[in-house]
Amino acid sequence: MVVDHKTGKVSNAPAKIRLKDETQLDLYALAIYEEFEELPVEAAHLYLRETKTLSYAPTEATVGPFRERLSGVIGDVLAGEFPPLESRDCMYCDYHEICDVNPTS
Ligand code: SF4
Repeated sequence: MVVDHKTGKVSNAPAKIRLKDETQLDLYALAIYEEFEELPVEAAHLYLRETKTLSYAPTEATVGPFRERLSGVIGDVLAGEFPPLESRDCMYCDYHEICDVNPTS
């Protein structure tokens, strides 16, 4: 089992929806697979404030598409192709002053 401890709050969204695109846990599961040639039986976020756990059982079907996506991203980065994409996170980003996507300009 791989557990990521969270200090934030759990949103009210159903666990299945929240974990559907869970890249962080998929990355941890993939790292465990690469090291031990076995996926963890469970991957979970443990929310410390609410002592609530959201978890799923990683399988090749769940981790496989993430692996493909990650390979594509790594290929793009190695090729120098990673243009900045504006998102809500930009306003909190330490690099927004020097980034081509500058929400304050
Ligand atoms: S401002 Fe920050 S988060 Fe937004 S695109 Fe640029 S580097 Fe990424």
